[in-house]
Amino acid sequence: MSVLPSYVRGGWVTPDGVEGRPMSDAVTGEEIGRLATDGIDMAAVAAYGRRTGGPALRELSYHQRASLLKALGGHLREHRDELYAASARTGATKGDAKFDVDGGIGVLLAYASLGKRELPAAGPWLDGDLVPMSKGGTFVGQHVYTPLQGVAVQVNAYNFPCWGPLEKLAPAFLAGVPSIIKPATPTAFLTAELVRLIVESGLLPEGSVQFLAGSTGDLFDHLTEQDLVSFTGSASTARQLRTHPVLSARAVRFTAEADSLNCSILGPDATPGTPEFDLYVSQLVTEMTVKAGQKCTAIRRAFVPAEQADAVVEAVRAQLTDVVVGDPSAEGVTMGALAGLEQREEVRRSLKSLTDEAEIVFGDPEQVEVRGADAQRGAFLSPVLLRATPDSAAVHEVEAFGPVSTVVAYSSTAEVVELAARGQGSLAGSVVTADPAFAREVVLGVAPWHGRLLVLDRSDAKESTGHGSPMPQLVHGGPGRAGGGEEMGGLRGVAHHMQRSAVQASPDMLSAITGRWVPGSARTVTDEHPFRKHLEDLRPGDTVVGGPRRVTEADVEHFAEFTGDTFYAHLDAEAAAANPFFGERVAHGYLVVSFAAGLFVDPAPGPVLANFGVDHLRFLTPVKFDDELTITLTAKDISPRASAAYGEVRWDAEVVNAAGEPVAKYDVLTLVAKREGSDG
Ligand code: NDP
Repeated sequence: MSVLPSYVRGGWVTPDGVEGRPMSDAVTGEEIGRLATDGIDMAAVAAYGRRTGGPALRELSYHQRASLLKALGGHLREHRDELYAASARTGATKGDAKFDVDGGIGVLLAYASLGKRELPAAGPWLDGDLVPMSKGGTFVGQHVYTPLQGVAVQVNAYNFPCWGPLEKLAPAFLAGVPSIIKPATPTAFLTAELVRLIVESGLLPEGSVQFLAGSTGDLFDHLTEQDLVSFTGSASTARQLRTHPVLSARAVRFTAEADSLNCSILGPDATPGTPEFDLYVSQLVTEMTVKAGQKCTAIRRAFVPAEQADAVVEAVRAQLTDVVVGDPSAEGVTMGALAGLEQREEVRRSLKSLTDEAEIVFGDPEQVEVRGADAQRGAFLSPVLLRATPDSAAVHEVEAFGPVSTVVAYSSTAEVVELAARGQGSLAGSVVTADPAFAREVVLGVAPWHGRLLVLDRSDAKESTGHGSPMPQLVHGGPGRAGGGEEMGGLRGVAHHMQRSAVQASPDMLSAITGRWVPGSARTVTDEHPFRKHLEDLRPGDTVVGGPRRVTEADVEHFAEFTGDTFYAHLDAEAAAANPFFGERVAHGYLVVSFAAGLFVDPAPGPVLANFGVDHLRFLTPVKFDDELTITLTAKDISPRASAAYGEVRWDAEVVNAAGEPVAKYDVLTLVAKREGSDG
């Protein structure tokens, strides 16, 4: 049987004359191919990523990398039937395959969109605001992210051969860090298909993705301070890798998603007949059967109020009776096979440990009726529901990574919070209740032990993404036993691949370094009004000063009547005098902002296309009658949009009174036309 090629150093490489580790079809048991990386020079693979992939990625802007992720998502979507076909051989039903394949494509697209919306078009990504560091304002600080200059080694689990590598690749790629993908043995043939499609797309810069079809060999010995490792799999492997001498000696960033005894908690209000009771039962059955329960987020511990335990068990059993196990391609099959016979043996072993303390209330671990396939050759297993008492130790310690869950009764909110924590750290938990007080107590009680929590009730059920679905916008990971890692979480996952540095300098230096105008640095009052400049001609620091303009009592009364804002502080002298902030009648804040606009706007048609908002508006000093306002508007951040004929300009707006005291500060957001039109 042939050995699968690895994609390293710009080409496909197949080791000669080695046996390799076999991969089997989960449904038929037939061998699919073998894996081996013998003879691959791992030091050279890492070096290639660093020297070829890294610079090629970092030459692109965040927006260009985001566009490539989007294009890659589109390409994979066009070819997803090829991935579904390979997926069936992992034992996955079409629904399971969609979860894995479409879910992975969804992560690429989510990161593409985040990159374009949230990351700068040019220059470094800044973390947080400018930090004033001195009284005179000549010394300031700013946190700046820059991409690590190493490689991201991504060790994947067998249960999500597409989603897993893609959810690790997308944030690394957007950050500008090349990936070395290592799939798990049982389903590596599907990841190989995925990588083939990625390589054939020709979309990604050379060296940004490499693929090891087999062991990592001595790769870890060659990792450096700028590399990082993202691992998904068992707690024992996580422990072994985390303590690798090179990783600890060089402080190589390491993140892990490991085993997790996730729980789902039914609220005492959710009695039979309520929508929440039904939601709880059907969610539990879904989590047991999707991907045949091989989901790191699946519900292993089902905590239910003692008085509802019998009813829950009955309702779950009734639904499990309808599950049809078999060849995913056979008509009517609703649950496929485990990833392989070894995995089935592992689940059976775990079940033996569990049944020392728990009673099986549905299913037989040794026997199952199978449709369209041979029950012994394929890795089929019946869903198994167990019931245990709260003091069972095994239920909080043993993860049977298959269609297995245990119902445990609890008697009080405090007890269920304590039981949840006995999982020693989980990826995901859910609370199914319509009682806000119960939800609050449970969520805040169990949150320290969880990476993600879902509160499910009749009002969000229809649109909920469910207990078991990690979302790219939200954190995926969990404390303690779940690995202590954090992946995705929107831009948090990108930041994980970058170094955050605090840069301390003068405002002028910081403006030069970041390419953004920083308050306190030089402004340029140009002869030409900045609103007459096209995007390419504007420079950070270009400034217009407008005013002074006197604010009269008549202005305030006119504004109040015209807008209907007759708040007492503007019109009622006695009430205003009693107000601790004002002491007398003052102008409306919005009048100040409107006057400011009247002072800085250049009215004739020109490159400024629209004002699309105001950020960070603060009114700092009340404006009394007959005070005078002056506005200074400075171009702060100029951000071209690649595929549009315009870009975004953020302006720093500062309004001061006659005494020079700041009255209002805010950012004005405009769209400004390019001189040359669209460049992409
Ligand atoms: P493993 O920890 O054995 O393997 C996970 C990954 O690590 C695989 O790619 C594996 O590669 C790789 N690996 C193993 N040893 C090393 C090593 N010394 N150096 C580098 N890479 C290594 O987990 P399994 O895939 O066998 O799954 C076992 C259990 O893990 C499951 O039963 C479940 O409890 C848990 N799990 C948790 C998941 C989660 O997301 N939290 C997901 C999947 C599983 P290779 O295949 O080549 O050995």
